[in-house]
Amino acid sequence: MVRGRGETPAVEEVRLPAPGPGELRVRIRAAGICHSDLAMVDGTLAPAYPLVLGHEATGVVAEAGPDTTIAVGTPVVLNWAPACRDCWHCRHGEPWLCAANPNPSTPRGKTAAGEPLAVTLGLGALAEEVVVPQRAAVPVPAGLPPEQAAVLGCAVLTGVGAVRNTARVAPGESVAVIGLGGVGLAVLAAARRAGASPILAVDVVEAKRDLALAAGATDFLRSDDTLGKQIRARTDGRGVDHAFECVGRSATIRAAWRATRRGGAVTVVGMGGKDDMLSLSALDIFHSARTLRSSVYGSTDPDREVPELAAALAAGDLDLGPLVSGTVPLAEAPDALERLARGEGARWVVTFPD
Ligand SMILES: [Zn+2]
Ligand SMILES: [Zn+2]
Repeated sequence: MVRGRGETPAVEEVRLPAPGPGELRVRIRAAGICHSDLAMVDGTLAPAYPLVLGHEATGVVAEAGPDTTIAVGTPVVLNWAPACRDCWHCRHGEPWLCAANPNPSTPRGKTAAGEPLAVTLGLGALAEEVVVPQRAAVPVPAGLPPEQAAVLGCAVLTGVGAVRNTARVAPGESVAVIGLGGVGLAVLAAARRAGASPILAVDVVEAKRDLALAAGATDFLRSDDTLGKQIRARTDGRGVDHAFECVGRSATIRAAWRATRRGGAVTVVGMGGKDDMLSLSALDIFHSARTLRSSVYGSTDPDREVPELAAALAAGDLDLGPLVSGTVPLAEAPDALERLARGEGARWVVTFPD
């Protein structure tokens, strides 16, 4: 939990309400730490405080409120953008843009001292338990490795969806992925499953090389002033068909733009700040004939794609091992957030005893 903008997160007791109508209490088994959690701590996403962090988790339904259909004991993966199925976007096949989606934070429960508490993206999943609307819980098969099932809910849906649903990468197309956190590694894995080649992984941290190659990259490129040249040298001088920006900064969006061939597509997966302006010349936009678009939550319907990915995980068709750098107990979550901020590893996952 974090008490205010820029403050150091700490583990504290909180009081959650009992599940009301249509709500579930879920006992968390594993919860990933995402870059968006850092953006909650530093205030980029302007949440309310005090705030329970976490929005990527798996757990088991421990208590079901009235008017629910998911039984106690059901394993679930949490969805931070549950669709209402009723707004314009939901009715037009874009549930990831649902107008009823939670704000960065939602009021829920109280601190031990009785102050009003907020939870991240309607979840607050870096906790032993959450109370959530039933539509934020997607049932999955029992027996999945918890640390891998947890990352389905944000990094994997986002990364896989960006490749499959937003960019629709085709076999043989070339791909560059800039920024190799959990989402970037998931993009690499999805690009490999899509049959892309070459798959160029780009990061400023040399230590990401082995992770990138394990996740599916054909080449690792260290990001510097020569990046455009390095990429053109591997794509017959053209640039890639698809560049994925997984950082959320104007500088890396510009790098992705320059890495892409004429007529290619830049997909922005990273969530950036509102004051970070991107400037492109009108001539460049016209002449390059590139497409620049974003991928919100992988343009995905989690109710459909989480069960699909969970089945692939259960069948051994999907290995999320390279994404998970390690597991830590809740008491070490603040340290893991700092490691993430320093760019160490990919996904750190907090696990809870049974
Ligand atoms: Zn996330
Ligand atoms: Zn909706």
